[in-house]
Amino acid sequence: MTLTFLAVHAHPDDEATSTGGLYRLLANEGERTVLVTCTNGEFGDAPGGIKPGEVGHDPDVVAEIRRGELDRSVEALGITRLVRLGYRDSGMMGWPQNNDPHAFWSTPVDEAAERLAVILREERPQVIVTYNEHGFYGHPDHIQAHRITMAALELIDYEPTLYFNAIPSSVMLIMRARWEEEGRLEREAELARGVVREPDPDPEEEFEMGTPDDEISATIDVTSVTDAKYDALAAHASQLDDSFWLKMGRDEFRRVMGTEWYWRVTNPEDLSGNVADIFAGYR
Ligand SMILES: [Zn+2]
Repeated sequence: MTLTFLAVHAHPDDEATSTGGLYRLLANEGERTVLVTCTNGEFGDAPGGIKPGEVGHDPDVVAEIRRGELDRSVEALGITRLVRLGYRDSGMMGWPQNNDPHAFWSTPVDEAAERLAVILREERPQVIVTYNEHGFYGHPDHIQAHRITMAALELIDYEPTLYFNAIPSSVMLIMRARWEEEGRLEREAELARGVVREPDPDPEEEFEMGTPDDEISATIDVTSVTDAKYDALAAHASQLDDSFWLKMGRDEFRRVMGTEWYWRVTNPEDLSGNVADIFAGYR
């Protein structure tokens, strides 16, 4: 029997960063994979690293570029079906864009959850992945993706196995050091262009992003598909060209990015401990 995996992601590029390896692995195994992308990503960078609000940033042009990038990422990952919910990007927490009536953040949860439930009823995925209640790192669209997924699960007639994407605390320490370095370099580059910006708030001051290593409940070896994951990240050039992932180059990426982690939330198959197969219990 073909199994079905479905992930609910906030923006074009999230499918590649947190589930890229898993998607390609399951495609190679012949399973059905579905991606639900909630927003169009209007408030990502415009090409050249131009930020929202800066001259040369047209949110609708950014959305159009990201539409093509998502198509190429989906192809690299062998995703069977892509569903775009088409909500407007809400921007970062506290931005006025949060209140745009078309923004995902201001869409009633019930309304978006019903649209997601329609897809779940069609696909009947055994396994679903989304973010935790903090949206992993506090972005309103990620929090809303979590909320509509939890609400949609109440609207269907069976219980799938739900995982949240996760990073073990030990790995998070290493990643944070890289991010901080990346942020410092970005601010230096902006200063050189005469742009002065408040540093982004540090989400770790409000909640812990890492998951204690011994609570990780799925550890997936994706070493056989790191090239495809790299291709998917590279497809999102407008957002990720400057990311530490692409900057490390293919060889280092292959060496260090061979694992994806998840935290089990619902457990209809009565699994215990840390599994190596996201479909554990179903095959
Ligand atoms: Zn995102």
